[in-house]
Amino acid sequence: MPVRCIKCGVTSGRRSNVDYETFICDECKQHEQVVISLYETAKETFLDPSAPIEASDIYEILKQTYFIIQKNPKLSVYAAIVKELLEAFAIQNLTEIDYDELWRRTRSRRNILKVLKSMEDAEILKLESPDRISRVVKPGPVLENFAKVYRVYKAKEQAKTRVASVLTMYAILHELYVLAKLKTKTEIENTFGVHSPKAPWVATMFLWTTRLTKGEEGRHFTEDEFRKFLAKRGLSTTTISNYISALKAINPNSVQQFIENIQPTGNNGVEFIVREDLIRALERIHASRVRENARD
Ligand SMILES: [Zn+2]
Repeated sequence: MPVRCIKCGVTSGRRSNVDYETFICDECKQHEQVVISLYETAKETFLDPSAPIEASDIYEILKQTYFIIQKNPKLSVYAAIVKELLEAFAIQNLTEIDYDELWRRTRSRRNILKVLKSMEDAEILKLESPDRISRVVKPGPVLENFAKVYRVYKAKEQAKTRVASVLTMYAILHELYVLAKLKTKTEIENTFGVHSPKAPWVATMFLWTTRLTKGEEGRHFTEDEFRKFLAKRGLSTTTISNYISALKAINPNSVQQFIENIQPTGNNGVEFIVREDLIRALERIHASRVRENARD
C-alpha cells in the first residue's frame, strides 16, 4: 500500500514500516521550517508599531504571493473579514464591531467564529464578550499597524485593496503555521475539519520552499513542473489553471509581481523566472531564523 503524506497528500510507495497517522514527506518537513520562519518574522514585524511595514521583506513576499488565494472560494471569507475590519477601524474609526453584524456583512455561510479565533491568535483582532451573550470584535496590534497604512490610501481603492490583500495573506500564513506545527493526521482533522489550508500549503511549498532548496536553479521553473507538482498533491485542475494564468499575467498592473519574466519552452509551455530580490528576501528571512533557533 502506498503511504500518503498527511500534509500535502503526495503518495510514496517505496517505504516500509511507516505510520500512516504521522507520515510527513521530506518536502513538507522542509516547508514546515520555512513557514514557521516566515510566520514568526511576519508577526514580529507587524507587531512593531514603529516598523514601516510596507518596506519590509515579508510584506513584499506576502503581497506577491496573494494570487494563490485570490480566486479560492473556500478562502474568500478571510478577505471579506479583513476588508470589513479595515474599513471599520481605519476609515470609519469605530472602536468595536458587533460579531453578528460582521458575520452578516461577510455574507459567509460558514461559521466565521473559528476564522476570527485564528485571527485573534495572530494578533489581528480581539474577541470580547462583554455581557456573556453578545460578542464584539476589537482591533489587535497587527490590525492597528495595517490600519495606519490603509488610512493613508483612504481614497485610493486599488492601493487599499493591496494593503488588505497582504493582511489577508498574513491570516492565511498563520493557518499554514498552525498546520506546520501539527504532527498527526488526527490533529490536522480535529483542527481544520474540512477547511484545511491545503491548496495554499502546496502552492507556497513550490513557490517558496522549492525555490530556496534548489539554489541558483530555483529561480526558473516551467509551467509543466508546476502543474505536475500541484496535480500530484491533489489540487483541482481549476485551481491549477487559476494559478498558471495569474503567473502568466506579468504586466505592471497585475496582482502578482512574483514572476519577473516568461520564456516559451519547446513544447507549447512556458518557463517562469522569479524575481531575484524575492528569492534573496526569502533566503534572508529563513537563514536568520535558522540561526536564531539554533541559539535557543
Ligand atoms: Zn507532504
